[in-house]
Order: sequence, then structure tokens, then C-alpha cells
Amino acid sequence: MSQAPPSPEQLPLTQLKGVGPQLAVKLAQLGLGTVLDLLFHLPLRYQDRTRLTPIAALRQGDDVVIEGVVAGCAVVAGRRRSLMVKVQDGSGLTTLRFFHFSTAQKTALVLGTRIRAFGEVRWGKAGVEMYHPEYQLLQGTAPAALAEHLTPVYPATEGLQQTRLRKLLEHVFLYIDQQHTLPDYLPEELRHQLGFMPLLDALRVIHYPPPDLLLAQLQSGEHPAQRRLVFEELLANYLSLRRLRDQARAQAAPRLNSTGALQQALLRALPFPLTQAQQRVSEEIRRDLCAAQPMLRLVQGDVGSGKTLVAVLAALQAVEAGYQAALMAPTEILAEQHFLTLDAWLAPLGVALGFLSGRIKGKKREQALDALRSGQTHISVGTHALFQDEVQFQRLGLVIVDEQHRFGVHQRLSLREKGQHAGAWPHQLIMTATPIPRTLTMSAYADLDCSVIDELPPGRTPVNTLLLPAERRAAVVARIAAACMEGRQAYWVCTLIEESEVLECQAAEATFTELSAALPDLHVGLIHGRMKPREKAAVMSRFKAGDLHLLVATTVIEVGVDVSNASLMVIENPERLGLAQLHQLRGRVGRGARESHCVLLYQPPLSSVSKERLGIMRASNDGFYIAQKDLEIRGPGEILGTRQTGLSTLRIADLGRDGHWQPQVQRWGEWIRAQRPALAEPLIRRWLAQAERYGSV
Ligand code: ADP
Ligand code: MG
Repeated sequence: MSQAPPSPEQLPLTQLKGVGPQLAVKLAQLGLGTVLDLLFHLPLRYQDRTRLTPIAALRQGDDVVIEGVVAGCAVVAGRRRSLMVKVQDGSGLTTLRFFHFSTAQKTALVLGTRIRAFGEVRWGKAGVEMYHPEYQLLQGTAPAALAEHLTPVYPATEGLQQTRLRKLLEHVFLYIDQQHTLPDYLPEELRHQLGFMPLLDALRVIHYPPPDLLLAQLQSGEHPAQRRLVFEELLANYLSLRRLRDQARAQAAPRLNSTGALQQALLRALPFPLTQAQQRVSEEIRRDLCAAQPMLRLVQGDVGSGKTLVAVLAALQAVEAGYQAALMAPTEILAEQHFLTLDAWLAPLGVALGFLSGRIKGKKREQALDALRSGQTHISVGTHALFQDEVQFQRLGLVIVDEQHRFGVHQRLSLREKGQHAGAWPHQLIMTATPIPRTLTMSAYADLDCSVIDELPPGRTPVNTLLLPAERRAAVVARIAAACMEGRQAYWVCTLIEESEVLECQAAEATFTELSAALPDLHVGLIHGRMKPREKAAVMSRFKAGDLHLLVATTVIEVGVDVSNASLMVIENPERLGLAQLHQLRGRVGRGARESHCVLLYQPPLSSVSKERLGIMRASNDGFYIAQKDLEIRGPGEILGTRQTGLSTLRIADLGRDGHWQPQVQRWGEWIRAQRPALAEPLIRRWLAQAERYGSV
């Protein structure tokens, strides 16, 4: 009797033809260990090599195959020496450009030779060009056949080429076809009701789309094969978050019962009453904290909606019940500010406040740690330093994470574990100022309950936003100077793409030098991410105290900074930032009763998308509206912070494009949990195994 063939989930890739130890290492870098992993390694995009495009029809940005005769070949000098090859077909003429080329290559490109080339169409010096296309000369031989299906482009890594991945996928399909071993975990009822095609058929279409399948249809996510896989992936994601939630909720948490005396004392001392929204959300939190399962609650509230106070009220409930609370902020600056705010509010109540960040070292650190261990500190404010292994709480009852969008999902989950203590889990409150559209919340935060502070405290005047081109810079500087002489304070924000913090800091330094020279009568300060924490704190406190008129900053001031006298902000190159981030930045002004202005000083010419986006900023001060628009225009990465989110590992679903599935995903997810619980595990494993392997580091 022959044994059943190993299922693709167990079969290591090294069993495939042509996969040796070296290749296996490369594949492992992509998180690919088994045949199944490879099958679910889905293309990022496609190339169309199934047809020839007439040269006259070339459009910038397209990947195309052209065929014609060599009509010229010359080495041209320039900023970079290059080989220019003119190619002509019946419809027109184009240029292939090579910056690296050999003499042999050049010699072979004889006038009149037939050539076929594949590459991206670009707009170059000579008009429409192709840079470094793949090409073959068709001398005498019959032309090679064009591809039969669209060519997949896979997520790859250095030293692992597309051609290699494509070949491997062919082996995988061969294996699966011979062994018939790919179970479909979507229940029959679901597939039937939603009209989904079988799994293997869908995978085949996605890896090898037929040529008549239009790329546009794939991009819109509407092809039946895609719909099926997108749904399955979102479902797996949902099930995994629900499982995380179940695991957390199965833990015991301390009941934080209190009479509310400390909270009342704080509220009596404040010069303002809670808004209705603050009251409602505080009540939701209060109820959660009295339960014996850990609270897992996300509080969303627009910039300036008063989340800090809601968090502090929760912390006081923990303190009154005899437990400690920890408030974690994503940056030193914000942690420092929270400390000052809380100190002013809580010192009169006799609540002992602690502070811990990377900046606290040596003896002070020992003291801070002792005070946490002994329970002397009631509420500790700090950065992620609060959750290093050496930090021990005596009785941690509540963890509050502020501005969670700056932390990743994995960090959030690891905090949950670190907070665990003597068999009891702390309650968790997660706060974010980035309003998250509902469909996103349902997928990205399905492990949390959600509260929304949908009201700003009264008396705020909306920020007046202006769009000005960089040529107007001198006028803007003059206006800032005049306003500062009248006692107002201003921010000048220098931006660069986030990947380069160094460059961003350099830009801020240069601007600081320039503005200091241009405005000798003003006190100008500088703050950026590469300064020492102590320096940053000193600058912030001078600005807060009104010693500085103008603060030149990088986007480090994006979150939480609260200086209510500051009523002007200039943001340079706003077109480089996402709308959610711009909204955050702009939220630093408009905190007092005085009318505030935000100048978006852009670099012309703006693309039409940028125009649309900046227009939205000018038109609206509503974070939810802005986030929804941002989601539509730029996709979810911007809002969730692609790099940190576990969701960036989605393979086929796109939370912006596919958000409309969420209600169905939720419905069927719950159905599976109730009716077919055994399916949840394999579905999660199939889609998220890689992510989880990474997530645990
Ligand atoms: P965010 O939600 O952006 O974190 P903060 O908690 O920093 O907002 O609050 C912004 C400002 O509003 C703070 O100066 C805070 O003291 C003030 N504030 C909070 N709640 C109220 C309220 N109910 N009425 C008036 N001002 C409030
Ligand atoms: Mg805040």
C-alpha cells in the first residue's frame, strides 16, 4: 500500500526539484518554508508579455513588449554616457537606452536587425524611451512565441530572481496537480452563498492570469478569482484577531472597583466640565474595568478631543482600587508632556507619579524601578522603556497606550504579554488620534472594543488652512515675524519622506539657521529627532513657557504636543505627507481660543492627486472625513502606518479597495466560530503563518 502524499502544508520546499540549501535560505528570507507557502506567495503585479504593442501606442509607465528593426545605434555623451538604440516599427520610432553596455552588445545591434524588447516606458530626453529593457535579437529565426498568460511579478529578495520564483511556482502547480492535495477550508455554505470559485482555480488564475483578463480588472479587485482569495485572506485575518481576543479574554484581570472619589476630586478641580463624549467613553471604560476579564478597548478621538483626561480618569480608577497604571507614549516629547500634565492634575490629589524613558539612567533609573516594584509609584508615565524586561510593577492593573498608530500591532500584542503579572492580566486602553474608518477598524482592530470621542471641547475655532506655493516663502516669513511680535507663537515644520530621518533633520537645521538669520528680533528654537532627549525636553519647555517665538521642527512634533498659545503653523512640502499625518501636525495649533492658521507651503507644480489631497486639508478640519478621503486616495498604509502594521503583510487584500467585504467577513467569521470552529485554525495557518513567525520576533 502506498502512503498518502505529504500535504503541501508539510512538504518542505527543499523537496521540490532544484531547491538546494542555498536557495532554501533565500526563500526562508521571504518567509517561505513549505510548498503551501509558495503557493500562497501571490504576485504583487503583472506584466503583459502576451502581445506586441505598436510603438505609436506607448504610454509612459506601461510595461510592454515592442518589436521592430534597429534604425540607429550610437553612444551618446551626457551626464551619463549611454547607448541609444532607435527602434522602428510600422507605427513609429522609439529609443532604448542603456547606461551599462558592452562593446559586443553594441556591435550586434546592426542597422536593420529585428529586435523584440520588453520594459517600462519612460519619458526621457528623446521622448518616449525604454531604459534597460530585456531584449532579444530575432535574426533569421522565427520569432519566439509570446507569453500565454500575464507574467506574475512576485515579492522577491536580493539574489532571488523573478525567473527563479516563476519556475518554482510551475513545479508547485505540477506537484499539486499530480497529488490533488489542496484542501479548501471555506465551508460549502459560504462558497455557495457568495458564489466563490474553488480555491485551486482561483490560485491558478492569480498566478497565471489569461491574456484576455484585463489588468484593470485585476487592479480593481473585481475578478472572481481575486474576490475569492481576498475574502479568504480577510476572513483568516479576522479569525486570527478574534482568536487573539479570545486568548486575552480568557485571562483573569483584577476587578478595579472604586467609588470614583479620586475621579470626582480631579473633575472638581478642573476649570471645565467633561464633554458628553468624554463622559460616555469614560463610562464605557469604567464598566470594563470592573469586570474580571481584561478590558481591550480602543479609544478613537480626533486631535484635541481630550483623550488624555479620559485616560487619566481610567488610571485613577485603578489607583483607587489599589492597583498601578502605566501610560505609554510613542515619543519622549509626548511622554514628557503627559508627565507635566498629569503632575499638575494629580499632585494635589496625593497620587504618586513616576516617569521612565530611555533618558532616565543610572541612579535615577534604579529609583524609578524600585518605586514601581514596591508600589510606591501609582501611575507611571513613559515610553516603551516602561515595558523592558527589567521593569517590574507591584500590581499593574491598567496599561494605557497613547497614540497607538505610532506603535505596531505586534508591539501592542507584546505589551499585552509583558503586562501579564502573577496570573492576572492588566486591563488595556489604547488611544489613537488617527480616526480610522469603520471598515478598517473592523479588520485591523477586530480584537478590540471600540469607543469614539466624537466631539471637541467647546470654544475651539477651526484652523484656517492656506495653500501657498514655495515662491511665497518670503511673504510667509514676514507674516510670521509680525504675528510673533504681537506675542503669538508659531511652528515651522520641515518634512521629508520618512525613510530619511537624517535628511529631515538636516533640512530642519538649515531652515533654523536661515530663519534665525532672517528674524534677528525673534527667539527661534529647533527640535528634531536626532537631538538628545534632554535637549529636546529643554527646547520644548522653553517653547511652552513662551521663551521661544518660533519653533523649527521636524515631524517629531506630530503627536500630542500641546502648547495652546501656539496659533500659527507653516508646513513645508506638505505634499510629501499623508493627510492623516498632516491633520495630526495641524492639530498642534487651534488649541486656544485665538484664531489659528496653518500654511501649507508646497513645491509647485503639484500633481493632480496632490492638489486634490491638499484641497481636502484646506476644506476640512474633520479627522474622520480626512481619513476616509486619505483611505480612498492613498490606501490604508498611510492610516495604519504600513511599516509597523501586521496588516502590511496582507498578500492580496487591500483594506482600502476591499473594505466593502468587512461586514460579510465579520458575519461569516462569527458563523465559522460558532458552526465550524475546527476550520479557523487551518485558515489562519494558511494565510498568516508567515506573519506570525515574523510577529513573534
Ligand atoms: P488629544 O485628544 O489630542 O490627546 P488632549 O487630551 O491633549 O487631546 O486635550 C487637548 C486640550 O483640551 C488639553 O489642553 C486639555 O486640557 C483640554 N481639554 C480636555 N478636555 C476638555 C474639556 N472637556 N473642556 C475643555 N478643554 C478640555
Ligand atoms: Mg493626546
